[in-house]
Amino acid sequence: MRRNDFLRLLMAAGAGLAVPVRAQNSIVIEPGENEVNPAFINSGPGFGNKLALTFDDGPSPGVTDRVLDELKKRDMRATFFLIGAKVDAYPDLAKRLVAEGHDVANHTYTHPRLSPMGDRAVEQQLSRCQDAIVRHTGVTPVWFRPPYGAFRKEQGIIASRMGLGVAYWSVDPQDWRKPGSAAIAQRVLNASQPGSIILLHDLHPMTADAVPTIFDGLLERSFTTAPFHSFVGSPYA
Ligand SMILES: [Zn+2]
Repeated sequence: MRRNDFLRLLMAAGAGLAVPVRAQNSIVIEPGENEVNPAFINSGPGFGNKLALTFDDGPSPGVTDRVLDELKKRDMRATFFLIGAKVDAYPDLAKRLVAEGHDVANHTYTHPRLSPMGDRAVEQQLSRCQDAIVRHTGVTPVWFRPPYGAFRKEQGIIASRMGLGVAYWSVDPQDWRKPGSAAIAQRVLNASQPGSIILLHDLHPMTADAVPTIFDGLLERSFTTAPFHSFVGSPYA
């Protein structure tokens, strides 16, 4: 029996049947509709022993290089959410991130609060950062983190059109408030668990002071720090 015949029979039975007809019609998915489904994440797989170290707001001379030195000593990998204007200003530091096996990702071109901005301006912030990273490192980022975490869900389509997933975090020691390097390290180590995405900033020297304790503590707890490509993969792969 064809669906329309079935509905006609129901109508004939007089059971208030306009409602199911509307319900049927309302769930039709139009072509392209699923594109409004960007990847927003705030953690990775909770099994195993992997977690992700992420650093925002670099590259910053005098801080990023210290973080890189400490990662290198321990053969650890991280993901760096870069500000495009700083990549243009310090391209050698951006190149070093990639040369030493770290993932690079998009953190806008000038670090504005995106949530009140129009679509075109948001798109420009993302594309200018993408272009700077590609130009200087040859890598095309597939993850993006909104400055201050300020991003409206409906703006996600702007990121998804550019092939960018939206990455938040699950462990935030608030290092930008400069609570002291011991407090930063303690907060990270207390909160870390498998699947954590740890938010740090390679912006302040205090964070660079904290990373040796953080890195050693994570290794002592048998965590493997994975860059995004081997932790959460690509958002639209
Ligand atoms: Zn930031």
